Amino acid sequence: MWGIIATWRMALEGVSESASALAGGSAATASVVDAVVAVEDFPLYKSVGYGGLPTENGEVELDAAWMDGDTLAFGAVGNLVDIANPVKVAQALGRQRYNSLLVGQGAREWALSQGFAEKKMLTERAMQHYRKRCRETLDKGLSPYDGHDTVGVIALDQRGSMSVATSTSGLFMKKRGRVGDSPIIGSGFYCDSQIGAATATGVGEDLMKGCTSYEIVRRMEQGMTPQQAADSVVYELEDKLMSRFGRAGDLSVVCMNRKGEFGAATNIKTFSFVVATASQPLTVFRAERVKEKTHYQPVDDAWMQAYADRIRAPIEE
Ligand code: ASP
Repeated sequence: MWGIIATWRMALEGVSESASALAGGSAATASVVDAVVAVEDFPLYKSVGYGGLPTENGEVELDAAWMDGDTLAFGAVGNLVDIANPVKVAQALGRQRYNSLLVGQGAREWALSQGFAEKKMLTERAMQHYRKRCRETLDKGLSPYDGHDTVGVIALDQRGSMSVATSTSGLFMKKRGRVGDSPIIGSGFYCDSQIGAATATGVGEDLMKGCTSYEIVRRMEQGMTPQQAADSVVYELEDKLMSRFGRAGDLSVVCMNRKGEFGAATNIKTFSFVVATASQPLTVFRAERVKEKTHYQPVDDAWMQAYADRIRAPIEE
């Protein structure tokens, strides 16, 4: 058996490559990194890596993580500036005994000391989005934080090893130094090859309140299917946030168990994810909630075309 699942349509190209590699016997640990690198490098994906949207100061600060489900080793970076592939830095940190999570200047210095490539990550297109959002926030009172997405990829390889990786520019217009759930173990990601793995996307401040990814893996360990674990964690967290905190942000997750069975849950209108396993051909699914359950179906050609048009559309400043 082998399998791979990832958050959002943007993961499709990377997942497609990694699915072929996994089918050919590649390791999960490398497959998740390769799939994430493809998203980080693509300039039109505005919430991850190169082309990612900036903080309120107009700087791109990137968060990423990697975890090896065999050893439970993990590495993560927060607020990394102008390094080409944050997920590769996270993976390298995961091979160290200490200093698994580095942020800001320290993360950048370490990455440079290890020979990671410098790259200006702010694109002109991201700056256009930024200027537009500044105006909308002032003129129309729109929330500056709308518009974000994290890529999270889980893989299971033919040896039964599992791995997970995440990468994001975080919430658009976030404060300088803000770290979301994506580089936080147990919240944005968790992986144990003897059970399964989960990864999250949405409002990090709320996902962290539920230690969301760890909780999904824990429920799979207790015998829930991935779908049951995903649904129950997302909707219970949403209920809890509504009753105790007064509001709940976007919460979306994907997960997979050691048998390659997968699940996805969301509390937003449309959450897309990509999956391929030995028995499930590569598919982009569109998930939506129906009461306390998530239903999903493959997207159609019109949906794919609308997506392609949207990410290329000119930005009216
Ligand atoms: N979870 C990310 C963060 O809070 C953003 C996202 O997934 O949309 O930084």
